[in-house]
Amino acid sequence: MNMQKRRQILERLRADNPQPTTELNFRNPFELLIAVLLSAQATDVSVNKATIGLFTDGPTPAAMLALGVEGVKQHIKTIGLFNTKAVNVIKTCTMLMELHGGEVPENRAALEALPGVGRKTANVVLNTAFGWPTIAVDTHIFRVANRTAFAKGKTVDEVEQRLLKWVPAEFKLDVHHWFILHGRYTCIARKPRCGSCIIEDLCEFKDKTEI
Ligand code: SF4
Repeated sequence: MNMQKRRQILERLRADNPQPTTELNFRNPFELLIAVLLSAQATDVSVNKATIGLFTDGPTPAAMLALGVEGVKQHIKTIGLFNTKAVNVIKTCTMLMELHGGEVPENRAALEALPGVGRKTANVVLNTAFGWPTIAVDTHIFRVANRTAFAKGKTVDEVEQRLLKWVPAEFKLDVHHWFILHGRYTCIARKPRCGSCIIEDLCEFKDKTEI
């Protein structure tokens, strides 16, 4: 795919949704961090349902610590992997209190040192809470980047590096959300909805569908 097409794709996605954001509910960097931690292998809808009560009872790292692992579990037991996630939430809050004064650090290495936080989660927090031009490659972005031929790669790291190289600066902040939403609602995993896709004429996927 050439750079002109890449730019056209981004311009179209931007025109369609000028201010994209995450579908996870959060009010501050701490809530976003916890919501992203909980979202591994779970839908945003299920996480949002659980965090209504969790963030009411545990709005800060100190308050979350007071709930303890069992208290956190009670709120998130409808979400997959809730046992491990509850432990990670409490360990993360302990580290936030002990190392960062109860704040979420605006620092990649410090974020990735938190339990259950990998490169993708750190990218989401840096991008969405702090406005960094990072690109968190999840399963949706990986699929959209490969199918369209916007940024083909065998691994998420490869796709991330190519996106960082080929997405012009003015689109970097939002490309993560545009591609996620496109993958979630249009370029869906099982059968992409090419017939109603706003970038169909620019996409280089060979097996487009008519729906
Ligand atoms: S045309 Fe089809 S394969 Fe290409 S981005 Fe749109 S939905 Fe995905």
